Amino acid sequence: MFYICECMVSDDSKIDKFNPRDIEPSTEREVETLVRPKEFQDFSGQDKVVENLKVFVKAAKMRGESLDHTLLFGPPGLGKTTLANIIANEMGVDMKVTSGPILDKPGDLAGLLTSLETGDVLFIDEIHRLPKIVEEYLYSAMEDFRIDIMIDKGPGARSVQITLNPFTLVGATTRSGLLSSPLRARFGINCHLEYYNNETLQKIIRRSARILDIDIDDLAAKEIACRSRGTPRIANSLLRRVRDFAQVKGNGEVDITITKYSLDALNIDKRGLDMMDNKILSTIISKFKGGPVGLTTIATAVGEDAGTIEEVYEPFLIQEGFIRRTPRGREVTDMSYKHLGISKYKNDLSLF
Ligand code: ADP
Repeated sequence: MFYICECMVSDDSKIDKFNPRDIEPSTEREVETLVRPKEFQDFSGQDKVVENLKVFVKAAKMRGESLDHTLLFGPPGLGKTTLANIIANEMGVDMKVTSGPILDKPGDLAGLLTSLETGDVLFIDEIHRLPKIVEEYLYSAMEDFRIDIMIDKGPGARSVQITLNPFTLVGATTRSGLLSSPLRARFGINCHLEYYNNETLQKIIRRSARILDIDIDDLAAKEIACRSRGTPRIANSLLRRVRDFAQVKGNGEVDITITKYSLDALNIDKRGLDMMDNKILSTIISKFKGGPVGLTTIATAVGEDAGTIEEVYEPFLIQEGFIRRTPRGREVTDMSYKHLGISKYKNDLSLF
């Protein structure tokens, strides 16, 4: 139940009100919004997920119903927010955006839910960080489209039930394992986003270059794609950085020479690993004999938050075969020694 005194009026600070049409793209965020695909046909890759979502959206529209609650999970920058936007666009409804850690009181959630029109999408990013007390109020909202509100406190307190317009909750998470079972069970549609292959990333880079009016050749697009950690957000961001170098150090055109120069200057190596990726690998090798070593120990040794290592760095290092998880901790593979140019044999000896 919600206490009405907490806030039954939608609190604007909890909702993202950014409107891309109002401004010239200058900041990173504005540019990101500009290149963000608005329809399924502009969204490259994740073929299975997209094909399924197209069917579910079409079926819901044919029945005149709101789309089932949808959970999107996968590492940062793979397109969860983008897909939520596309779902709302394709359903022809509005979307309100918020995130787990911002919703710290049940009243915040009540304000948001009561402001939704029929069929609207409520997007909750980082839904695994929703406080437990808020999460529990979400259950009846998701299941029966109603919330119980407690009016007043003390002896005069009484409970009032509010019926909500049917809506679609789209939750995004980088850590699906942290989601409670009752919350997970209330999502009718589950989509797991994977890292992108280089061909798809090249397509995304060329599309963004077209939108941002960047003159880029095929070799340069391929090089950026290879060094983007399978992640569209990184690909788009590297494209913009390379454009900066091309403008200042070159003739404005993004070719392979200026691309290699820029990516080297940014410390992005040939496999797309950045300084922190390489620091994690070299630390496990030099300080812990290549592992196994626990996550928190690695985090302390490299001076990074354990959650960030687990969510941002590790999934790609595991997928590319640089690290493996064992019951006793993380271990580097032979590929890491090769990548860093360190002899495994000499490293073992030097530790005695
Ligand atoms: P997430 O919410 O998973 O962190 P976003 O949806 O914010 O990721 O995506 C980050 C950026 O990458 C967006 O600005 C978008 O332009 C781009 N992007 C992500 N996925 C795709 C895709 N499949 N096709 C084209 N661009 C994409």
